[in-house]
Amino acid sequence: MSAALDTDTHIASSIRTDAPPAILLDRVNKWYGSMHVLRDVSLQVATGERVVVCGPSGSGKSTMIRCINRLEQHQEGRIVVDGHELADDVRALDAIRREVGMVFQSFNLFPHLTILENCTLAPIWVRRMPKREAEELAMHYLTRVKIPDQALKYPGQLSGGQQQRVAIARALCMKPKIMLFDEPTSALDPEMIKEVLDTMVGLAEDGMTMICVTHEMGFARQVADRVVFMDRGEVVEQGAPEQLFSNPSTERLKTFLSQIL
Ligand code: ADP
Ligand code: MG
Repeated sequence: MSAALDTDTHIASSIRTDAPPAILLDRVNKWYGSMHVLRDVSLQVATGERVVVCGPSGSGKSTMIRCINRLEQHQEGRIVVDGHELADDVRALDAIRREVGMVFQSFNLFPHLTILENCTLAPIWVRRMPKREAEELAMHYLTRVKIPDQALKYPGQLSGGQQQRVAIARALCMKPKIMLFDEPTSALDPEMIKEVLDTMVGLAEDGMTMICVTHEMGFARQVADRVVFMDRGEVVEQGAPEQLFSNPSTERLKTFLSQIL
């Protein structure tokens, strides 16, 4: 968990070619009313693969992520997560919620619960884990994100970076197979961004399958097996970070990169 972001080295790939894809989107379409927000989005994420998604505001990144764990519903196309087809089958939905961890831009911690209680809530009530065991697990992950000493405090007593690390620890307590991050550092002050990215690098080093929506291109360079560029509801380009950043093939990506780099 001590990886530094200021190195140029890309961490070793953990893609598992012997396992079925962790996530499959096949020509997914979604509308909000008459607004077409996902247009024939196809994306396959291998087990152990790390995908960074970038693109202008309003391009459909959050909507795509939210469709993957069914916080939103798509109207056309297929989404398969860890072998579960996302349809109206409630059991499949339960499985997906258990297997997919999500971290949002706003940390979404429960303000009236301690850090420890935030982390043990779902394991106790969803996984039916005994309280003691859930607390041990929570302390394990709070130690991993380097804030075991904050366990008995309330979210409001922690910095933004610490709260986001709690959100990551809380997601990990459900032992997810896949982690989805939606701009986890964009609400943070600059000095706190690195501590959160370091935590995410550590997860990547452990071989976690991840989709991260982020504009932290240093993180993408170090961690991503693949970068996906979205614009106006479409996947416009994708490829290895170096290739995509140094050699964009569309004007849309060139324009986007010139604005963020
Ligand atoms: P991004 O995450 O790339 O900024 P979003 O997925 O949040 O983009 O949004 C894509 C488009 O869908 C935007 O035009 C946005 O205004 C619209 N949108 C997002 N959520 C909703 C919603 N709940 N209801 C209606 N429109 C929405
Ligand atoms: Mg978004």
